[in-house]
Amino acid sequence: MMLKGKTALITGSTSGIGLGYAKVLAAEGANIIINGFGDADAIEAERKSLEGLNGASALYSGADLTKVDAIEEMMAMAANAFGGVDILINNAGVQHVAPVEEFPVDKWNLIIALNLTAAFHTTRLAVPYMKNKKWGRIIQTASAHSLTASPFKSAYVTAKHGLAGFTKTVALETATFGITANCISPGYVWTPLVENQIPDTMKARNMTREQVMNDVLLAGQPTKQFVTVEQIAATALFLCGEAASNITGANISVDGGWTAQ
Ligand code: NAD
Repeated sequence: MMLKGKTALITGSTSGIGLGYAKVLAAEGANIIINGFGDADAIEAERKSLEGLNGASALYSGADLTKVDAIEEMMAMAANAFGGVDILINNAGVQHVAPVEEFPVDKWNLIIALNLTAAFHTTRLAVPYMKNKKWGRIIQTASAHSLTASPFKSAYVTAKHGLAGFTKTVALETATFGITANCISPGYVWTPLVENQIPDTMKARNMTREQVMNDVLLAGQPTKQFVTVEQIAATALFLCGEAASNITGANISVDGGWTAQ
């Protein structure tokens, strides 16, 4: 078990990609802190099943990551329970699709707070413990949109480009402490986040559901396939290993060739 004795905190892990990370890291013996919103019973069932995977502990924090106080409480919980966080995966994120001149100001603020600023707060609170231990892994779920843009996603593209720059800076600051900081940048992965943006895209582009899936979502993905949650999770697990200890400040595309174009 590669991660026995380590603690991993994964934001936005009640669903989609985050849940995929939690499963592979728990299976390798890491203690897990999951976070995110959702049905309390479903979350409790998930937490229990993570504990069953390889004997590690799993805790849940319902912190709303748009609130600094809530992030500080979540990180304090990790410190009290496990001493700190060895593997930090900043994954929580939301999307909103609208032309820039109509982009709701509250949606802009939400996306910058959650998809970008929250990662600053978790990182600043996790790094002292990692530096002390001379080991750490910081992994961001960025996006192909950290490298390239699409229309109608101004806030998301801005936040993800910011996250990529932030990660490079953290990589430089922590490079001599056994800590790596990297982005994983998926193309379209089939998760609730992708499914939920289909209606807005249908409206913004005046298209049917099938047209949005084939002509918008998979149009830019040369493989013409959605990336899977398991493929993203496997990339994170690789980054946690010794073989990846010299990969830092990188932005790893798992996007079916999207950003090669
Ligand atoms: P998802 O909607 O399935 O999961 C998002 C998670 O974030 C959920 O657990 C949700 O409860 C949580 N969350 C939402 N608001 C929160 C808040 N205020 N505080 C705490 N948690 C909150 O989405 P997903 O597709 O799994 O996306 C995960 C990450 O992957 C996001 O950062 C997203 O931008 C990125 N991403 C997704 C795709 C894709 O195609 N699905 C592609 C590239 C990047």
